[in-house]
Amino acid sequence: MTITTRAPRRLESYVCGEWTRGAKDGVPLLDAATGDPVALIDATGLDYRAALDWGRDRGGLALRAMTFHERALMLKALGQALMGMKEEFYAESLATGATRADAWIDIEGGIGTLLTFASKARRELPNARVLTDGEVEPLSRDGSFAGQHIYTPLQGIAIHINAYNFPCWGMLEKIGPNLLAGVPCIVKPASQTAYLTELMVRRMIDTGILPEGALQLVSGSAGDMLDHVTGQDAITFTGSAATGRKLKTHPAIVENATRFTMEADSLNASVLGPDAAPGSDEFDLFVKEVAREMTVKAGQKCTAIRRVIAPRAHVDALVAALSDRLGKAALGNPADEGVRMGPLASLDQRDEVRERIAALRADAEIVAGNPDDVRIVSGDAEKGAFLNPVLMYCDTPFAAQAVHDVEAFGPVSTVMPYDTMDEAVELTRRGKGSLVASVFTDDKAVAEEMVIGMAPFHGRVLIGNRRSAKTSTGHGSPLAPLVHGGPGRAGGGEEMGGMRGVKHYMQRTAVQGTPRLLSAVTGRWIEGAEAQQGTHPFRKSLSELQIGDQLVTASRQITQEDVEHFAEFTGDTFYAHMDSDAAAANPFFDDRVAHGYLIASFAAGLFVDPAPGPVLANYGVDNLRFLTPVYFGDTLQVRLTCKEINPRETADHGEVRWDCQVTNQEGAVVAQYDVLTMVAKTWPQA
Ligand code: NAP
Repeated sequence: MTITTRAPRRLESYVCGEWTRGAKDGVPLLDAATGDPVALIDATGLDYRAALDWGRDRGGLALRAMTFHERALMLKALGQALMGMKEEFYAESLATGATRADAWIDIEGGIGTLLTFASKARRELPNARVLTDGEVEPLSRDGSFAGQHIYTPLQGIAIHINAYNFPCWGMLEKIGPNLLAGVPCIVKPASQTAYLTELMVRRMIDTGILPEGALQLVSGSAGDMLDHVTGQDAITFTGSAATGRKLKTHPAIVENATRFTMEADSLNASVLGPDAAPGSDEFDLFVKEVAREMTVKAGQKCTAIRRVIAPRAHVDALVAALSDRLGKAALGNPADEGVRMGPLASLDQRDEVRERIAALRADAEIVAGNPDDVRIVSGDAEKGAFLNPVLMYCDTPFAAQAVHDVEAFGPVSTVMPYDTMDEAVELTRRGKGSLVASVFTDDKAVAEEMVIGMAPFHGRVLIGNRRSAKTSTGHGSPLAPLVHGGPGRAGGGEEMGGMRGVKHYMQRTAVQGTPRLLSAVTGRWIEGAEAQQGTHPFRKSLSELQIGDQLVTASRQITQEDVEHFAEFTGDTFYAHMDSDAAAANPFFDDRVAHGYLIASFAAGLFVDPAPGPVLANYGVDNLRFLTPVYFGDTLQVRLTCKEINPRETADHGEVRWDCQVTNQEGAVVAQYDVLTMVAKTWPQA
């Protein structure tokens, strides 16, 4: 067998458009399993003020010139390019101690997160640069003054300071939202595993997909970077609560009220429901999940289950089942097949976990595993940071402190008993705010009481049961569409949550003014803004159509025959349309009324232009409301106004939203809604 040892790579930072080495030789970073040096890290001498300015000036300008859809397509291209290079990242990831399954979460999970943002943004955000928030607020009786909230990108830079455990995902889940928002970023990974982040950033820069200045990297210490922040910057920090608290109170951050999002450690709990007795599906799922959370990434996940809360009667069976399962987790070099759990990221990290186990022993006894006796199937027991899973038991959790407070960032969890559901909820809360909790139950009352009781103290709550066993993404996985972050001890931050995360990098502003000018600001037609009539707007392609293009239709009377025909034809013979006495007895009507859907159908008959043309399809309505009853003999008229135009970047058509208002002969609004259509960019189409 030939053993090849490669020379440690000298890591570089990417700032001001160049790859730069620190002024010093660099501190060696060691392979978690073999102890061999992998890389040298140093960022001494970087000009952080210049780097932040470079990002704000170059990157910010370029990104803000793009629309949300253009930025989303940029992320899609980036994600696809990274996916094509994933094996290179997997190979580099081995040195962090991650098995292939662990690295999947970090690498493909991270790239998948980027791709999810890219596709959600194109579905949920307009193809524009400004985002509106909520409805227009009328502020005057005559309609001449109104308010509208808008979001615009911050003009600063996002600074992402990450923990060592997710060198790829930790970066990608953060840069996706800021790039979509139109804000550049600088990433500072934790030193211990920065070689993997550096490699991925290198590849991203190599693609040339991102505009200059959109992404920078610091490989090494953050130096005086935070001294130069402004009120337009946004900092995200992921790491220990102790470092987070220190950074949050940095004088420049306090002085400038710089946005600071903190994702810190937490004592996440998982509860076995009182219904989930040994032998039930939920009991088995619980055992599997707790063991999985303890061993995936050797327990180095901020979301891992640290506290295992179970009905007192089931504790013995639970400890036995968990001990049995954990005993089968083959610990060794992650490069070797058959290894299920890798080492911790470093020997220092292992020392720290052992110290934390000692602290936990003030409250709890070890019931499985021995932190001082390493049993591995491969790897170097001396130089590798190996630690077998350690299960602890605390019999008096209400009298205990350490088990609710000390995070052993490794394969360590503590089982604790409860007697009532109130107690179980109270124990989860003793963590003083956590990223996630879970409850395993198949009982609706248990799910309701536990989830509502735990929710105020958690950013995410997972319910596990037999029905979702195969599809559940599990306790420990933050997902791009869902929020990640928790109150109190967990840092009080919130990330992702789909497009909510994008808004963290934008300023919400209440804009007040007259509708014509508000509409000019948002690029959306609103009631009271200018409208122009002429050619039927359905005859106009996207190249001709303007916001405010309007059609006022002819009118049409609704007769008793129409309503009866519609009732028979559709089968909707609800009494309010068919029986005068019964209708009049209804608190909302004086007599028989027309069907709401008949009104919407007649409205379409009034506004549609029938011949083939640029309008390709109607794909729905939004916010449909029937506001005034329509009686036999009433006359309907429609006003249809082009409200929002969203050309698709990668198709020959786009979406057009129309304001549709149906009025009666007295001018009262009987129905109001948005009609959604697909319209060709040019007509006739090439
Ligand atoms: P850490 O020691 O607190 O370090 C976190 C980051 O802060 C690293 O990038 C570190 O850089 C940087 N840092 C330290 N001092 C700094 C300073 N004075 N100025 C600027 N940056 C500074 O945490 P860690 O050991 O990497 O990560 C483990 C912890 O993170 C665990 O407690 C875990 O629970 C938590 N975590 C939380 C989440 C979450 O989403 N809530 C996710 C993952 C991990 P250097 O490495 O260069 O010192």
